Amino acid sequence: MSELLNFNYPPEQVVERVTLFADVILPLPLPKLYTYRIPFEMNDDVLVGARVIVQFGSKKVLSCIVAEIHENAPADYQAKYILDYLDDKPIVTTPQLKLFKWIADYYMCTLGEVINAALPSALKLSSESRIQLHPHFNPEEDEIDLALQEEKIIFALQNNQALTFTEVGNLLQGKSYHKFIKSLIQKEAIIIFEQVSDKFAPKVVKKVRLSEHFVQDEGMLEELFNQLTPQPKQLDVLLNYLQKVPVHQDVHLNYKGIEKSELTNVPHLSASSINTLIKKGVLEQFDQIVSRFPADYSQKLLPVALSEHQEQAKDEILGLFKEKDTVLLHGVTGSGKTEVYIDLIKHALEGGGQVLYLLPEIALTAQIVTRLMKVFGEKLGVYHSKFSDNERAEVWQGILSGRFQVVVGVRSSIFLPFHDLSLVIIDEEHEASYKQYDPAPRYNARETALMMAHLQGAKTLLGSATPSIETYYNCKTGRWGLVTMSKRFGEAQLPEIELVNTREEQHRKNMHSHFSGKLLTAIEARLQRHEQVILFQNRRGYAPFISCDECSWIPKCNFCAVSLSYHKYNNELRCHYCGYHERMPHDCPACGATTLKSMGFGTEKVEDELKLLLPNADIQRMDLDTTKKKNSYQQIISEFESGKTNVLVGTQMVTKGLDFENVSLVGILNADTIINFPDFRAHERAYQLFVQVSGRAGRRGKTGSVIIQTRDPLQPIFSKVSSNDYQSLYEHEIEERMRFNYPPFVRMIRATVKHADEKVSENAAIVLAKDLADRLGKQQVLGPEVPYIFKIRNLFLNEVHIKLPRESTNLRAAKAQIAQAIFNLKLLPDFKGIRVVADVDPV
Ligand code: ADP
Ligand code: ZN
Ligand code: ZN
Repeated sequence: MSELLNFNYPPEQVVERVTLFADVILPLPLPKLYTYRIPFEMNDDVLVGARVIVQFGSKKVLSCIVAEIHENAPADYQAKYILDYLDDKPIVTTPQLKLFKWIADYYMCTLGEVINAALPSALKLSSESRIQLHPHFNPEEDEIDLALQEEKIIFALQNNQALTFTEVGNLLQGKSYHKFIKSLIQKEAIIIFEQVSDKFAPKVVKKVRLSEHFVQDEGMLEELFNQLTPQPKQLDVLLNYLQKVPVHQDVHLNYKGIEKSELTNVPHLSASSINTLIKKGVLEQFDQIVSRFPADYSQKLLPVALSEHQEQAKDEILGLFKEKDTVLLHGVTGSGKTEVYIDLIKHALEGGGQVLYLLPEIALTAQIVTRLMKVFGEKLGVYHSKFSDNERAEVWQGILSGRFQVVVGVRSSIFLPFHDLSLVIIDEEHEASYKQYDPAPRYNARETALMMAHLQGAKTLLGSATPSIETYYNCKTGRWGLVTMSKRFGEAQLPEIELVNTREEQHRKNMHSHFSGKLLTAIEARLQRHEQVILFQNRRGYAPFISCDECSWIPKCNFCAVSLSYHKYNNELRCHYCGYHERMPHDCPACGATTLKSMGFGTEKVEDELKLLLPNADIQRMDLDTTKKKNSYQQIISEFESGKTNVLVGTQMVTKGLDFENVSLVGILNADTIINFPDFRAHERAYQLFVQVSGRAGRRGKTGSVIIQTRDPLQPIFSKVSSNDYQSLYEHEIEERMRFNYPPFVRMIRATVKHADEKVSENAAIVLAKDLADRLGKQQVLGPEVPYIFKIRNLFLNEVHIKLPRESTNLRAAKAQIAQAIFNLKLLPDFKGIRVVADVDPV
């Protein structure tokens, strides 16, 4: 066919080359895409979704993603040539590009900002990117052909730890150095990394295997046995090897071999006999680079049989998926939602599609990952914010290559290069941490995941014990399906909730510092029975502020309108908004008195005082301060899980998704600060928090108890929490939302105006609010108002809230108006240096 066609064309036309242009997404906040010319010789090599290298500005050289290839030269500038291409295959898939465009449009930011957030740094190259020798490259031994320029680079790297791209360019005195870098990467002679501290260090294990000729020829193996009979120790090593690696059943098993340490962990086998066998050429030693995601597949779980309730829920979900794309699983804490998810994931994998399992940041505990690892083994990828760049890049590539079919990850995993999703699970869908506050894109992973599923024709299952009002509304109106599990798994009951009136207890002199007598007695009783306790306090640090007894001086942050929190362990005053810190003063800088007192209390103080009250208990704390290191979170969890820790004190971190068998008491130390928060979601949040933290108690067997300390036990929220009455919470909330025009009835957009001068910030916000009111209608615009915390990092804040009725608004047009108003504001000479941040669907 094609030959026939060719035949009809004059030969010149076939060889004539088309001039092609590529629109690229630079990882910068640029308002539009830039067009570059593709050099003829790269016409077949530059691909949509792959990276190319371009020069941007006069000096900077960057890698960027090709969004589109076409034949139209830009009208208003001369297109520069693409310098080189980096990938032979796209690293961003087509559905992904579509999603990125949606994120940029919906959340009012640039595609560059989306790409910048999406790509692991190891995939973003610039003039500042660095290269180093591949840890396994040995120029003396490895026989590879190197071009002269490549040799130059290698030589330079042997003398320097690393070189930036710019330095390589200087070294070779030419622009076309990228192709040498690229070719050295392909030859596995060098690797790229972003930061020196992040140097790529593959994990290597020492392994041994039987030398090849003994495997190929059974006669040789028999002969070997005879030879080794006089050396019983060596014979034992051999037998142990054959037992663990049964090559007589499958010769291919030998190739993978066995870890050396595994061969010697039998008591009477010594390393020296192994070494002798290696010397004799019976065994051969080799290094293997293993994945940085260790998996313990050896103890695969027996498949869990779903309970009747779970089986029923699963069937209902699958049934609803036939008509609806989105279903909510509303299951009380401990109802066993995870097992239902696992079953549905298996089902989806059998159909051949990919699966994304989203978890809020902190709930991504070792617990769930371990459970999933055991079921899905090597098919499971994990995407976590505490991973290094290279680990993130490994997951990214693993999805592209098909190695990972299921990914469990946090918020940012919505950026991963899926192309064939069949199921998305959004666990704990009510979590506010699915929303990114800063920087742009200020996306909500829940909404974005729903769009991603939609673009790829996948089904979405949301799960929660305390659904967000918006989600439940979507179910009530029939847009989404709803499946309910109202019983805990097995014999477990929901915990009993008891309120303690701290005002009264204070009168009766029954408060020991921040612990009521009742709470203390209850804790002691549990510890005696060797049960465990979780205590929740909403603030970290020792005290939210300190104050002088004499003159009432309170230290404030120099840069933010907040008081400094006192952290006792390092004797510091710290700002939780900008990170500013100073030493705790010895005496009052205002009046000189030595009577500085700490006011209020945080987790650190709870831990400190409880240690005094219960000297024999092992008490641990889990909050932002104790979980900074990569594995500290996991360590605290496993020490609690193992029973070493008796009492776990923590912030919100202890409320989420954790499953401990032996916790029979949960204490909420101060419920009042949570309820009395000035926000239209305060009630919903308080309910979610109380129910979730309570849900950690009594998850198996015996009924657990919850003690809530409050100065105001008659607050209606408590009766809803005690009776686990989500319905009445929902009905109350949805009515208020309708009456006062809040989501889900309107879409909110918050424009925050920022400036170092208080007056300029205020005036700019007034002008912006007026312009927005003119464009969108007076009813739609509220403010400006000064937020509760009115200065952060030396910038004064003013907020304008825009409420767009959900049914009647043309969202795209409204956003264009808002963007235009912000753009115009910035042009006014009075407001030089003004910054405006638009946050769509703020939470
Ligand atoms: P949820 O996420 O709904 O709060 P989990 O999924 O954590 O609940 O399950 C609660 C507990 O019940 C867990 O310890 C889990 O191991 C156990 N469990 C749930 N389903 C089963 C099952 N089918 N067989 C055995 N144990 C189960
Ligand atoms: Zn003072
Ligand atoms: Zn500050």
